[in-house]
Amino acid sequence: MLLHVQSKKPGIKFPRLIQTLSGQYSFTVIDSENQTRSVRLLEWIPGRLWSSVNPQNNELLYSLGEVCGEITNMLQDFNHPKATRVFDWDIAKASWTDKYINLFNPEEKECLLFFTNQYKIFQSQYNQLRKSVIHNDANDNNIIVSNDLINPVVETIIDYGDAAFSQTINDLAVAIAYAVMDYPDPLSAALPIVSGYHKNFPLREEELELLYVLVAIRLVISVTKSAINKEKEPLNTYLQVSDKQAWALLNKWKNISPALAHYSFRAACGLTPVPQENLFKEWAASQGMIIDNLFPLIKFKVIKQPDLSIRSLLLGNFSSYKNTTEFSYKIDQLQADNPDTLLAGGYLEARPVYSTASFKIEGNNGPEYRAHHIGMDFWLEANTPVHAICDGEIISYADNAVDKDYGPTIIIKHSINNELSFYTLYGHLSKESLVSLKKGMKIKKGDRVGFIGNKTENGNWPPHLHFQIILDLLGYETNFPGVCSPAQLAIWSSVCPDPGMLLNSQEVSSIKTVSDTDLINERKKHLGKSLSLSYSKPLKILRGEMQWLIDETGRRYLDTVNNVAHVGHEHPAVVRAGQQQMAVLNTNTRYLHENIIAFAKELCKTLPKELSVIHFVNSGSEANELAMRMATAFTNQKDIIALEVGYHGNTGRCIDISSYKFDGKGGKGKPEHTHIVPLPDSFRGKYRGDYAETGKQYASHVKNKIEEIKKSGRGLSAFIAESIVSCGGQIVLPDNYLKTAYAFVKEAGGVCIADEVQVGFGRVGKKFWGFELQDVVPDIVTMGKPIGNGHPLAAVACTPEIANAFANGMEYFNTFGGNPVSSAIGLEVLRIIKEDKLQENALSVGEYLKSGLRELQKHFPLIGDVRGEGFFLGIEFVEKGKIPATDKTSYIANRMKTHGILMSVDGPQKNVLKIKPPMCFNKENANDLLYYLEKILRENFIAD
Ligand code: PMP
Repeated sequence: MLLHVQSKKPGIKFPRLIQTLSGQYSFTVIDSENQTRSVRLLEWIPGRLWSSVNPQNNELLYSLGEVCGEITNMLQDFNHPKATRVFDWDIAKASWTDKYINLFNPEEKECLLFFTNQYKIFQSQYNQLRKSVIHNDANDNNIIVSNDLINPVVETIIDYGDAAFSQTINDLAVAIAYAVMDYPDPLSAALPIVSGYHKNFPLREEELELLYVLVAIRLVISVTKSAINKEKEPLNTYLQVSDKQAWALLNKWKNISPALAHYSFRAACGLTPVPQENLFKEWAASQGMIIDNLFPLIKFKVIKQPDLSIRSLLLGNFSSYKNTTEFSYKIDQLQADNPDTLLAGGYLEARPVYSTASFKIEGNNGPEYRAHHIGMDFWLEANTPVHAICDGEIISYADNAVDKDYGPTIIIKHSINNELSFYTLYGHLSKESLVSLKKGMKIKKGDRVGFIGNKTENGNWPPHLHFQIILDLLGYETNFPGVCSPAQLAIWSSVCPDPGMLLNSQEVSSIKTVSDTDLINERKKHLGKSLSLSYSKPLKILRGEMQWLIDETGRRYLDTVNNVAHVGHEHPAVVRAGQQQMAVLNTNTRYLHENIIAFAKELCKTLPKELSVIHFVNSGSEANELAMRMATAFTNQKDIIALEVGYHGNTGRCIDISSYKFDGKGGKGKPEHTHIVPLPDSFRGKYRGDYAETGKQYASHVKNKIEEIKKSGRGLSAFIAESIVSCGGQIVLPDNYLKTAYAFVKEAGGVCIADEVQVGFGRVGKKFWGFELQDVVPDIVTMGKPIGNGHPLAAVACTPEIANAFANGMEYFNTFGGNPVSSAIGLEVLRIIKEDKLQENALSVGEYLKSGLRELQKHFPLIGDVRGEGFFLGIEFVEKGKIPATDKTSYIANRMKTHGILMSVDGPQKNVLKIKPPMCFNKENANDLLYYLEKILRENFIAD
């Protein structure tokens, strides 16, 4: 057999047989126990065993399928008398397991019988499937995977010892049974294997029909073997090596609808998932406007689809669609604006209403959301009568009375001819609709089926009919999924075809969106090249909700990057404050208005009493720019001392003091009036360790710079520093740093500027402002990002002395700074921080997360340092000898994104993961972050 495969010159690596000097492929030896042994020498295939590969991603699963398919293919013209044998591990001979059923407990028995009974039912079909000699043992210790830790592929499958002449499809069933054992969603993991296999060895429809049960039967053999072994040799654990995993998979597999698995396998081979789909479509096309029968009493001229997609401006803020009254109001308003219009549609629309915990499932890469709607909605008043679209029979009716479920629901079966039947589902009806129904009741086309329900009875929705066509009930009886995850869209849209087909109308087709590729190309054409996009496959985020960002498929990402959305993305109260004021007045500050004063006063309450004057601007850069002008006005000097790898903004002067930029790519180095002092990094900087002296040692460099400036005949204007250095890699300033540095600056007549653009507004937990951690009072504080929760707003706070020096006669005019809308927003942000106790939350959850990270650090030496305060944390990754683990950090950030958690990378060596989430980030979010981080830290690229 090996020689046969060898002769085929396989496209995969193959363990070639090595001949002895005399040209033999095997020979015999007598071993120490006087037994005759046959010996042969095989070529070594470098690589690792499948069982040690982590993660096993879809590309790897696909390549497993490809290699299995190629081996099956190469064995097509091979046979051998010994291949036809009675062999326990042969799926075709599995009925031997029946007599051992009593080795199992009742629950296990039930599971095994579920599969063995199906296997018996399919026996004659199974016997007719094509046969060949198959490898029959692609288990996880026989699969050799390449040593590439990021993009591994399957090199080959070894150990031909279980080969047998049997149904060819068994080869694939065996590979799936072992490869998908540890996945939360084993069916999804099986699909790339099927696709890869089909590419090299095209599968037949009748094989795909039985694949689901054959995978299970291989597992039945495996658990039966283990049970027998357990009795015979209880101490030999090797014999039960995959028992636990096999049981876990059997139980998960049993919960998968066999029909759904069958359709999924078909889709994986490029076939129409549901075989009757085309038949249904042909029939539907011949029927014309049959759906008009649904509402014969409603008169309308046009049909319009309300946009309820993720980006929907009609739904607006999440608070309004979560509140049924507001949601209903918006639909009513749309109807009032569009008389003579039937509001209908939503087939395959991804909707934010489903991107919630009730619709969350555990996918193979973190959570997935069943956000795609697979029925069609008709938004009509409660009590509108609903009629049958064609003859049928009521097969079920029930009140699915759970919040956001269907409420009263009816399912009707329509038998068209011998080959075609389908079902229609009517959801969100009134309770009254179910009163006089009977299972089996015949319904004629045009009969009234029921009435649209109101929100108290319909699952808490604005009144509407959810109408869905179903080609296969998949074992469901009185309820049926009305939504699916994006990954399953192809299958579910085949099980539930577009009701629009029966509507004969173009207008309900989905709302068009621009593809990612087009958007990227247009960006390249119309936006500056120096603007970057995050991630190699950029995200298309269309909605924000507190600590979450939601993409166009309804997938939620936990945002640990965005300290701008300080009190939460699109916080309803902030949105309302802005919208309300914007509807009334937005103008500049040359008129009297209360908002700006109220806001300035509230802001001052958070600051030390010395800082009592505010200038409002529109960005952090502008704030720092103004701060430097003020410092110059106050000191008559231009020279500024700033920190190594500091960043203070994008304007000319800000870049001039940002070593992160002028020392980085495209930078032209330090300008004459800028003086850079070392980053006070006690982990890897010039002075290390948390000693009382460390801060002073770093601060002595400020003194040195002042002396240098003086020597050149000039004086110091300002010293600027962030209170925790963000771009530097979340560097917490060592104790006494600012205190000592500020003293030197003040002595030299300079101004101390605290850049709080990143860290301010309660983020550091223990204090409202970062500089307070250092027990200092700056002369100027600049603020931005969080102050407007995403609205372009920023501010400069300073002492009256500095403000007076700045007011030298030249008017300071700022078109937008401090306008009534910005001020209303800023005021609301301050109110929320206080009332929702967000600073306290940053402290408690931040500390919880930090201690969780420090716990991980004990187990993973890659975590060199965990630092920060509150919700401004950093994890520095290092190899032995503190070598920055730059590639690994980027790998972790990308893998976290794959699992639905957004994290950013920073630090001069790009080896620090930054955590600075919206301040509503909670303990559950922290637990998720820790869970996935630990999972990823165990992956081969990190751990090996
Ligand atoms: N200062 C710091 C510390 C910053 O991080 C930033 C922005 N990343 C700025 C100033 C500039 O703010 P903006 O982008 O709003 O101009």
